[in-house]
Amino acid sequence: MRIDVITIFPEYLTPLREALLGKAIERERISVGVHDLRDWTHDVHRSVDDSPYGGGPGMVMKPQVWGEALDEVCATSGRPPRLVVPTPAGKPFTQHTAVRWSREPWLVVACGRYEGIDQRVIADAARRMPVEEVSIGDYVLVGGEVATLAMIEAVARLLPGVLGNPASAEQDSFSDGLLEGPCYTRPETWRDLSVPEVLRSGDHAAIARWRRDQALERTYERRRDLLDAMPGESLGSRDR
Ligand code: SAM
Repeated sequence: MRIDVITIFPEYLTPLREALLGKAIERERISVGVHDLRDWTHDVHRSVDDSPYGGGPGMVMKPQVWGEALDEVCATSGRPPRLVVPTPAGKPFTQHTAVRWSREPWLVVACGRYEGIDQRVIADAARRMPVEEVSIGDYVLVGGEVATLAMIEAVARLLPGVLGNPASAEQDSFSDGLLEGPCYTRPETWRDLSVPEVLRSGDHAAIARWRRDQALERTYERRRDLLDAMPGESLGSRDR
């Protein structure tokens, strides 16, 4: 998979080269290009923003600069990339989105700043490629870079050969619609707290049942909206 990120703060994306993602890049499972939006400016101040039409506080990112940047970064004679635009006003980015994007060959991410990007940039890009405006949560960040890091990490760990044990992604929270239950490691007792008996029983069926019950309980307590979104049959006989 190829991922290109356009930003006015390329250094913000440095963590992409670290740890698991860094290894995935080294092993050529994923290739990442980070582009400085200011490279497409033409004035001495390299300005990327202007005051908003209709008045109001803040600045808006200029369409000309974004237009030229996207024309160049997304140029291809083949299938165009999927353009991702992080924004708090976007549709929620979820594990389902990550799974869907992990099947894409090429993503381009446009990181906004200030009040966001002139909407015509998104309208223009949508004439040539699929575009998704997505939010990573109901809060407002200063820029799209942190959202981009979170989304790329969620997508990259699903790519074949990135996680040491692919089964861990299959058992994670959200993979079956539920939150994952608690996990434990040695020692058996720590500060008077013991690991649940069943996990030490060696009874795999009982362990699987216990884990499913814990997942259901935790989801019920913390994220009832997830249970409400699940089809009835996937909850088994448990009373909702
Ligand atoms: N005026 C915008 C609004 O109210 O919807 C907020 C702009 S925000 C200050 C600047 C940039 O941060 C956005 O263009 C986007 O790239 C990024 N951003 C902020 N919060 C985000 C979120 N929850 N999800 C994704 N991106 C976010």
